[in-house]
Amino acid sequence: MRDKITVVGSLNYDIVLKIPRLPECGETLPADDAAFSPGGKGANQAVQAAKLGVPVHMVGCVGTDAHGDVLLEAACKYGVDTAHVRRCGEPTGMGVINAMEDGSVFACIVRGANFAVTKEDIDRAEEILKETFLVVLQMEIPQEINGYAIKKAKECGCRVLLNAAPAEEIPLDYLQMCDIIVLNEVEAGFYLNTDVKNEEDARKGAALLAEKYGTDIIITLGKAGAVVSEQGDVTFIPANKVEAIETTGAGDSFIGGVGYALRNGQSLTDACKFAACCSAVTVCRLGAQDSMPFLEEVGKLAA
Ligand code: ATP
Repeated sequence: MRDKITVVGSLNYDIVLKIPRLPECGETLPADDAAFSPGGKGANQAVQAAKLGVPVHMVGCVGTDAHGDVLLEAACKYGVDTAHVRRCGEPTGMGVINAMEDGSVFACIVRGANFAVTKEDIDRAEEILKETFLVVLQMEIPQEINGYAIKKAKECGCRVLLNAAPAEEIPLDYLQMCDIIVLNEVEAGFYLNTDVKNEEDARKGAALLAEKYGTDIIITLGKAGAVVSEQGDVTFIPANKVEAIETTGAGDSFIGGVGYALRNGQSLTDACKFAACCSAVTVCRLGAQDSMPFLEEVGKLAA
């Protein structure tokens, strides 16, 4: 039975610094607090789907260092099968996230082991792909390997969701192989080569990208909601009104939620409504993976 989600992507050891503002050039600014947490878009999306009860397999790489141990333990704790996460000689990937009091976030990643993923790692997961209904990818492993994984996933009969983040130039034929492409407003602006600031821009942008790539498109707009183009029909998905305290992982929670709902046979548009409820819980708690809801915690919002 095809009931699995396979996430091919990144695992990062995140350092989250709470800062009042960005430092000036040459200034050393004391941070109010530093927290360490398991992250990486791939691992976060895998954890959200697993916390909702989906059998999730992760394909990727971490180092043989202590950070790698922490990331594997965290993913396993939430039910992600990490048998296809290889330990390699590179240091485990890292994220340095500057989170400011007004909610803005400035992040940098160190690719490390995430860039050691090879075609052989994808080939080794072939049997899992044959039991997978949805393969989820991001842009935090080498683009060439992502392209290979997308092709392999299609050959194995999987649906493919690409979170094309962080934004980079991607060959058109590679995007056209996907079924669903997910972007936030900054990434959508990059791929459209114009600003995406509100619902109207996102509606136009989603329609344009859907036409160009021949895929379904989701553009998320933070607390302003999201827009989905499914089979050419564009729908606005409002965000839930909540008291957000930290928005890290909102997009990853959304994608995990989409995966869960698609597995239950929902349309992509309905899946986005469910996903918005997952993200709404996530933004009300601190952290990324730890803040993502279990199924029973989404229940009330999604009802
Ligand atoms: P991140 O990179 O932090 O994971 P993102 O930029 O990829 O996030 P967003 O567009 O910020 O993703 O958020 C994804 C979804 O999460 C939104 O479409 C919305 O449904 C929900 N969301 C985000 N912020 C809020 C908020 N403050 N209140 C309620 N829902 C929110």
